[in-house]
Amino acid sequence: MTITPPAMTVFETLESEVRSYCRGWPAVFDRAQGSWMYDEDGHGYLDFFSGAGALNYGHNNPVLKRALLDYLERDGVTHGLDMSTTAKRAFLERFQDLVLRPRGLDYKVMFPGPTGTNAVEAALKLARKVKGRESVVSFTNAFHGMSLGALAVTGNSMKRAGAGIPLVHGTPMPFDNYFAGRVPDFLWFERLLEDQGSGLNQPAAVIVETVQGEGGINVARPEWLRGLADLCKRRDMLLIVDDIQMGCGRTGTFFSFEEAGIVPDIVTLSKSIGGYGMPMSLTLFKPELDIWEPGEHNGTFRGHNPAFVTATAALDTYWADSGMEKQTIARGEQIEATLRQICDEHSRAGAEYRGRGMAWGLEFTDTGRADRVCARAFELGLLVETSGPQSEVVKLLPALTITPEELDEGLRTLARAIRETA
Ligand code: PLP
Repeated sequence: MTITPPAMTVFETLESEVRSYCRGWPAVFDRAQGSWMYDEDGHGYLDFFSGAGALNYGHNNPVLKRALLDYLERDGVTHGLDMSTTAKRAFLERFQDLVLRPRGLDYKVMFPGPTGTNAVEAALKLARKVKGRESVVSFTNAFHGMSLGALAVTGNSMKRAGAGIPLVHGTPMPFDNYFAGRVPDFLWFERLLEDQGSGLNQPAAVIVETVQGEGGINVARPEWLRGLADLCKRRDMLLIVDDIQMGCGRTGTFFSFEEAGIVPDIVTLSKSIGGYGMPMSLTLFKPELDIWEPGEHNGTFRGHNPAFVTATAALDTYWADSGMEKQTIARGEQIEATLRQICDEHSRAGAEYRGRGMAWGLEFTDTGRADRVCARAFELGLLVETSGPQSEVVKLLPALTITPEELDEGLRTLARAIRETA
């Protein structure tokens, strides 16, 4: 019997080989609502990926959609560069009232280009300008984006190789627990800083994720983050927290560094800040660091006003009280309980879990297992991705708005996918 191979689709014939998520999830998606995505044949997929953390409030959240539709309906400004608009004013006022002031944070707000890597570039540029130094310290397994500055402080060797030129002025240091507790925190870092013969140029800044999302859900302990903040202060380095994936409530609190009680000099936010999956980024910094010249850093899509509208609606809906934070902690406990059970059941496979809030990772000793689990989960109707340098970790990022029943359903599917890939 001759089997006719399926016809090539326009994705295969026209779209670049660089495409990636569509390879693991070979469906053509059409609609999405809440925690569900539907393909063009009407099959539903429960989404435990949430646009890599850009959809903390779910797909097409009805409250945010209403605000967006009303704005578009009345011909509100869509494109505005960095002009002052009513939509931007409303966002800035609500961000100040609901996010910054209640946390005692005094930050200036910069709108760089609309993606995370733009916010990181702006942060690195500003830190270098303020300190008049080039070097920036990052951490093992860090991920900060694909543009050259951000890539220079990113760990993943495959992504770094894509740069095609030397990635310079970044020095990696061990992230928390890199030596599994065998080496005192910051031993190597401190030694290089104090040794005149170490070859480390005095850094302008240190950039860190409190939980490394792409790096494999590596959770920094609060005491490690406090130690880092203290080291930065003592050694005159600015502390940049990249909260692009773990901010906007992913770990429970609005900013992921709140638990540690630290106040970074610079913070980057993107992904879920736009609320609706709209491109939007912020670089926040202490007022005394605001030494930019007008227009010194710019970008055509800094002022995507529909994103300001949905961002403001998200703040009003979810951050006017502590309800979202409490719910995220509760849902996180539900995930943790299931992962504990799964790991007990698969102890011989060397399964291990870790996470905070609603960002969790499940790692297997067999590094190929996570990929197989995600592939089987897709067949069973669950979207879940891998992370880590060898894609060895199953990463769980459900929407913060997922119901306990949906979460339970997804976790049961995950458990089944694990059993069936033993
Ligand atoms: N920083 C962190 C911590 C991220 O997780 C990401 C994306 O995953 C980025 C930066 C880059 O963001 P973008 O892909 O929007 O450029």
